[in-house]
Amino acid sequence: MIKETEISIFPNKLEDRALYKKLVSKKLKINIGEITSLQVLRRSIDARGKFPQYNIKVKVFINEFATEEKVSFSFKDVSKSKKVIIVGSGPAGLFAALKLLELGLKPVIIERGSDVQKRRHDLKAIQQDGIVNPNSNYCFGEGGAGTYSDGKLYTRSTKRGNVKRILNLLVEHGAKKEILIDAHPHIGSNKLPKVILEMRDTILKYGGEIYFDSKVTDLIVNNSEIKGVIVNESTEFIGDSVILATGHSARDIYYLLNKHKIKLEAKPFAMGVRIEHPQQLIDSIQYNSSKRNEFLPAAEYSLACQVDNRGVYSFCMCPGGIIIPASTEPGELVLNGMSTSQRNSQFANAGLVVSVTEEDWQHQLEHGIFAGLEFQKEVEKIAFEVGNGNQQAPAQRITDFVNNRISKSLTDTSYIPGVINSPLHELLPNGIVTRLQKSLHQFNKRMKGYYTEEAQILAAETRTSSPIRIPRDKETLMHIGVNGLFPSGEGAGYAGGIVSAAIDGERSAEAVAKYLM
Ligand SMILES: Cc1cc2nc3c(=O)[nH]c(=O)nc-3n(C[C@H](O)[C@H](O)[C@H](O)COP(=O)(O)OP(=O)(O)OC[C@H]3O[C@@H](n4cnc5c(N)ncnc54)[C@H](O)[C@@H]3O)c2cc1C
Repeated sequence: MIKETEISIFPNKLEDRALYKKLVSKKLKINIGEITSLQVLRRSIDARGKFPQYNIKVKVFINEFATEEKVSFSFKDVSKSKKVIIVGSGPAGLFAALKLLELGLKPVIIERGSDVQKRRHDLKAIQQDGIVNPNSNYCFGEGGAGTYSDGKLYTRSTKRGNVKRILNLLVEHGAKKEILIDAHPHIGSNKLPKVILEMRDTILKYGGEIYFDSKVTDLIVNNSEIKGVIVNESTEFIGDSVILATGHSARDIYYLLNKHKIKLEAKPFAMGVRIEHPQQLIDSIQYNSSKRNEFLPAAEYSLACQVDNRGVYSFCMCPGGIIIPASTEPGELVLNGMSTSQRNSQFANAGLVVSVTEEDWQHQLEHGIFAGLEFQKEVEKIAFEVGNGNQQAPAQRITDFVNNRISKSLTDTSYIPGVINSPLHELLPNGIVTRLQKSLHQFNKRMKGYYTEEAQILAAETRTSSPIRIPRDKETLMHIGVNGLFPSGEGAGYAGGIVSAAIDGERSAEAVAKYLM
C-alpha cells in the first residue's frame, strides 16, 4: 500500500531518516517494520510557533517495494533538421532550445553577450570600475539575466506539471536535487553558471548551434513573414522561424521592431528602490528569536499592500545576499539582488516597488508607446548622475526617507561599488516616494522592527518587468502581424522570473513545431 502524509521535524533533525519513520508510523498507526521506504515530496518551513519546524510531506510505502518516478528527456539528433533561430540565451531561449531538441528541430541560438566565463570579466568591470559593457553584463550574456541571478525558482504559475519539468531539467543539468522538494527552491549565483554550461553542452551535443558576442541588429522580414536576422550589422542568419527571447532590458530590440512597424504595446510595470536590512534582524523577526538556529536558512519575507490605489510590494527578496549593479548601458544605474547557494552574507535585500501607470509618465507622452520606457530611463539616469556616474548608488536610511530628511550617516551595505548619501525623498518621482513612505509603516505592522534606522534604501530598482509587450496570438503564440515570429519570455511581456520565462520558452518551441508541421 502507498500513502501520503505530513510530519513536522525540528531543523536539527532534518537529516534524521529514522525519526521520519518513527513519526510516520505513529501518525499512520502502523508498525515501523511495515514501512519499506519513505520519499520526501515537499518540505517547507513553518515559523509561526515559538520554535520553527519543517513541515514535510512524505510518500510512504507500506509492505511494498518503492518505485521512483524517473523523469527522462528524449533529445534527438537535430543536426540536419529545420532551423529555428532563437535570439537570446536567457531561460526562455535555453529552455526553448532544449524543447526543440525533443521536438526534432534545430535550435540556432544567437546571443549578444559573452559566454559565462568571459562574462565574469565584464561583471568585475562593473563592480570595481563602474564600466558597463552594453552587450555583456548582469542581464546580457550566456544564460541571460538568469545566470548571475539569485536563482530563486518559485513562481506564481499554478501549472505544477510544467514547473516540475523545468526543475527536473535543471537537475538533469547539475542543479541539486533538493530544488524538487523545497517549497521555495533556490540555486544561487555561484552554482548557476555551471548549470548553464551543461545546458550549452546538451544543445551542442545534439546538433544545435550557439553564437556568442553576436548581437541581432536587424530583422529580415518579407511580406509580413520573418525570414531571419542580421547579426553584428553584417552576417545573415536564415531560419524557418524566429523565437525572440531578448529579455526586458533589450530596448534596442523594441526600437528595431518599431522601425519595422511591427506592433508593440505599452504595459504597466513597477519601480522603486532596493531595501537592505541586517539579515540578523530579518531572522529575528521571522523566526521569533534573537539568534537564528544554525540549522535554519537565512529568513526571507514577502510583503505587499495597497497605497492610494496602487500596489506596493517587495520584489526578488535575497536573504543573505548582496545588491548588484544590473545596468545594461553606460549612463544609467539599475539595481538588483543576488545570493550564493549558502545565502551567508550579513545582509537581506529586496526590491521595494510601486506599480506605475500612465498617470506617472504624462510628461513623456510625446514618446507614444515608449513613454513608460522613457520614464524608466529617466529614473535610472537620475540615480546614475547622483551616484557620481560610476555605478555608486544614492542611498538613505529609511527612517530619514519617511521623514523627508537627509541621513546624518549611512549604514553598512553589501553594494560593492559603494553608496552616496542622498535625499531620495526629493530625487525619486513623487508618486513613488509618497507610496513607499506610507507602505513602510504598513509593512512594520506585519513585520515588527522592519521600519528601523538600521535599514536603508538604494536607488533605483526599475526593471521589475518589461514596460513593453510584443503582442502575440493566444492560440498560435505567433506575433499578431508577422508570420514565423514568436515573441517569448520576459521581454515579450509574457513571463516574470526564471521558471516562468523557461515555461514560456518551452511553449514557444511547441508553437513553432506546430507552425512548421
Ligand atoms: C541580478 C538578478 C537577479 C535575479 N534573480 C532572480 C531570481 O532569484 N529568481 C527569478 O525567478 N528571477 C530572477 N531574476 C529575473 C530573471 O533572471 C529573469 O526573469 C529571466 O532571466 C528572464 O528570462 P528571459 O529568457 O525572458 O530573458 P533574459 O534572461 O533577460 O535573457 C535575454 C537574453 O537575450 C539576449 N539579447 C538581448 N538582445 C539581444 C540581441 N539584440 N541579440 C542577441 N541577443 C540579445 C541578452 O543578452 C540575454 O542573454 C533576476 C534578474 C537579475 C538581473
